[in-house]
Amino acid sequence: MVPWRASSLLLSLEEGGIVKVCSTPGCENPAAYRTRSKPAYCLECIDRIMGESGLVRLEPFKGPRDWMLTRCKRCGVEVHYRFEYILHKHEIGEPVCRACYWKQWFRDSWTQYGVGQGARGMIPEAVLLDVISTCGYGLLNVIPGDKVGEELYRVRCCSCGRISVERLGDIVWGCTCSKTARQQRKACLKKLNSYARSETLAAMDDAVTGRNLFGPYRTVKEAMAALDAE
Ligand SMILES: [Zn+2]
Ligand SMILES: [Zn+2]
Ligand SMILES: [Zn+2]
Repeated sequence: MVPWRASSLLLSLEEGGIVKVCSTPGCENPAAYRTRSKPAYCLECIDRIMGESGLVRLEPFKGPRDWMLTRCKRCGVEVHYRFEYILHKHEIGEPVCRACYWKQWFRDSWTQYGVGQGARGMIPEAVLLDVISTCGYGLLNVIPGDKVGEELYRVRCCSCGRISVERLGDIVWGCTCSKTARQQRKACLKKLNSYARSETLAAMDDAVTGRNLFGPYRTVKEAMAALDAE
């Protein structure tokens, strides 16, 4: 038995698992983390997968479920993602960067439905800061959209420190670490409703929605009904 092999096997057993070989076909490197049944990759392949997903890693890789600061190669936005999430988006071929993704979502609404999903004009700073802080975030910067009202917000969670890019309607639901309460959500949705686009509502059908302001719901009415039913 080769001595170093014996000791590395022992080490891996002590740590409570077996070090797998990287899941990339043909790659012989040891995987950078352990999994029971899912694929696991080496550090080189983690960076390659992130690169193919349009991201640069800005922090050391700790584990597939740890938040990692990244930069989008296309728009330069720096936010945290989990490698697990990046891997999933990589597998389904969807862009990982939420800034690029939501910008495209705003454009698609115009080209597919002829209406926008943005707010009616610029939301006053006082309203914006009120909603963002009520929901447990701090505003880092506003990312302008193609049109006024299609802004995205780069925010930091006050509890866990995670930085993300969000639509205003998604901010209302709070960070995954500290979800907002029903009353907070209702108060914020009411404030945002005065900035909903009237033409969006008029032209609305099943496909056309106001999700920019109301998270997964099309109108403030739908959002309120869903909150009451919780
Ligand atoms: Zn590899
Ligand atoms: Zn981007
Ligand atoms: Zn958080």
